[in-house]
Amino acid sequence: MKLILLGAPGAGKGTVAKMLTELDGSVQISTGDILRGAVQAGTELGKQAEAYMKRGDLVPDDLIMGIMEKRLQEPDCARGFLLDGFPRTIPQAEALKKLLEKLGITLDMAVNIDVPREVILDRLTTRRTCSNADCQAIYNVKSNPPRVEGVCDKCGSPVVQREDETEEAISKRLETYNEKTAPLIGFYEKEGLLLTVKATSSEAVIEAIKARLAA
Ligand code: ADP
Ligand code: ZN
Repeated sequence: MKLILLGAPGAGKGTVAKMLTELDGSVQISTGDILRGAVQAGTELGKQAEAYMKRGDLVPDDLIMGIMEKRLQEPDCARGFLLDGFPRTIPQAEALKKLLEKLGITLDMAVNIDVPREVILDRLTTRRTCSNADCQAIYNVKSNPPRVEGVCDKCGSPVVQREDETEEAISKRLETYNEKTAPLIGFYEKEGLLLTVKATSSEAVIEAIKARLAA
């Protein structure tokens, strides 16, 4: 399947994407994971992106399009992909549309995961992420803690609070979402690709996606 996952930070895009990869071998492409990996590795991309990310601001569109143009042409994308955290602005959505036309790829849908703001705020402050750039497993201190406190179940690396998960950066990210990313809902509605799911459980989101794919 070829999907875009839309939704505020903390809506569950990453969790849903990981669950969907298990259905048909589609790959999860998270621009946030790619950027955090680049920052940790200290690459040129990481150096350019770091300050924006720390503040909760978006990384410039041209950097993101450079990453995605290459990524979407890698062979593992042929079986399908789940775009998690991209596109994030109208210019990115427009550039993606052109890129997909050029590559001869058709999207199945753009899924808008619509979660109430109180739930989002609670999730972001209690979210913890594996510090290993190749793992980045997600935990929650209340609802899904690692078996051993502070240690990733999957790879044993320290589980930490992300640098952009301070209260200040979180409110900035939510503001950025409302201003720059929420308009994509209208964009994909016009494209006839939108599926909105109001659900706080990832399983319910998966069921709605499966039902739409089968229709
Ligand atoms: P979340 O969805 O939880 O906010 P992500 O892991 O998707 O987190 O992104 C973390 C940060 O990486 C963003 O706050 C932003 O700085 C940067 N980023 C990720 N994807 C994009 C994108 N498509 N365009 C611009 N910046 C991005
Ligand atoms: Zn891990």
